[in-house]
Amino acid sequence: MTADRPRPVPTRETRPFWDGLAAYELRIPWCATCGRYEHPGAVGCPRCLGDLEWRAVSGRAAVVSWTVVRRAFTPGFTPPYVVAQVSLAEQPDLWLDTAIDADPASLRTGLPVAVVFHDDLRGFSVYGFRPVDREPGELES
Ligand SMILES: [Zn+2]
Repeated sequence: MTADRPRPVPTRETRPFWDGLAAYELRIPWCATCGRYEHPGAVGCPRCLGDLEWRAVSGRAAVVSWTVVRRAFTPGFTPPYVVAQVSLAEQPDLWLDTAIDADPASLRTGLPVAVVFHDDLRGFSVYGFRPVDREPGELES
């Protein structure tokens, strides 16, 4: 983690997300009316306009797709690195764009991954994913 990465700028709408990362939780907006997670968050549920509440999720997911970044586009991110879409265990049709700490040659669609948290040098916590040897949703033994 380097200090020259862009600094997150929490807003009123995104503050619960960043507070969750600081507590080592991945929190995603959830609609009690629809019973569905919505990401990214919005002022209200895009399906029913109901209120959204932030809920901590398991952090389990599966790889949907990925790319290997080989040119430096963003300060603080040294290529090559992997950017992927992962589907959340709680709701597989909800995808998160994320960094994955993995050898690109080991990636495959459906690969189980788990969230990992990193304390940023500037007082923020950020997240990424890493491969795990269990299916999403299975408990740690
Ligand atoms: Zn809803």
